[in-house]
Amino acid sequence: MAKKYGMIHDNNLCIGCQACSVACRSENKIPESVYRLQVWVNGPTEYPNGTLGYEYHRQSCVQCENTPCVSVCPTKASHVNEEGIVLVDVDLCVGCLYCIAACPYQARYVHPVTKAPDKCTFCHESRLSRGEEPACVTVCPTDALVFGDLNDPKSKINQVRSERVTYRQKEKLGTSPKMFIVPNHKGGINS
Ligand code: SF4
Ligand code: SF4
Repeated sequence: MAKKYGMIHDNNLCIGCQACSVACRSENKIPESVYRLQVWVNGPTEYPNGTLGYEYHRQSCVQCENTPCVSVCPTKASHVNEEGIVLVDVDLCVGCLYCIAACPYQARYVHPVTKAPDKCTFCHESRLSRGEEPACVTVCPTDALVFGDLNDPKSKINQVRSERVTYRQKEKLGTSPKMFIVPNHKGGINS
């Protein structure tokens, strides 16, 4: 069976250090004015037990299975590869930016150099093609990120999904993201 890559972001383990976004920028040579990945900090929030805490939210492409960005692309520049990763073929892009408008997760931006839409690819063009995990997963100091093949019952990502409660952002839209989030036990679910 073909691989289907996905990722987990555990909001309990994330400490908001931004190592993942720094590694992403370095690995993928992303200019300073834009980003493929950021961790947004919300708070401080008062929890039911009276303590204060912060919420950390990963902002990046969530690798939808039902892809609004691909559906609206008139040239097939935005496409899904055989491993379920949503990619952009810069050579086919005509710059209409329909995909940026269609993405409900605000995950795409115009790359200042290529002038084409760009976004997280799970490091497909670099690390993944060498059999390595995405840069963000490798550098995370708390193992808040888990990456793997959702079609492999024995993969670490499926093991973690069976052990922890997860949700996906904006599930009501029917986009079926392959980015799973472990909600902060202290703060509840934000979707
Ligand atoms: S998050 Fe946006 S860019 Fe990523 S696959 Fe979904 S619609 Fe496309
Ligand atoms: S590297 Fe890990 S702990 Fe740091 S912000 Fe990213 S996900 Fe959170």
